[in-house]
Amino acid sequence: MTIYWERCSICGRYHAVKQCTLNPDIMVCPHCCLACPLRSKCPKPVWYPEIREKHRVPQAKKAGERGEAQKVLMDLLSKLKEG
Ligand SMILES: [Zn+2]
Repeated sequence: MTIYWERCSICGRYHAVKQCTLNPDIMVCPHCCLACPLRSKCPKPVWYPEIREKHRVPQAKKAGERGEAQKVLMDLLSKLKEG
């Protein structure tokens, strides 16, 4: 991945920029990349892709735990109904 020193296409600051994955016409600085509302949909954010992964993993875990708790609850409810 090439890093350029140019004006960021989004905030206009002179900064280290990379070519945006979603919009190759856009050169984005780390700040705007991190603040990008499309970051969650971005297949590979050019800046700090590892941060996105770190955010995703606990979320997935939480969702899994919630799903597990819900399953246990549904099991209990169905047992209560049967009994
Ligand atoms: Zn910027």
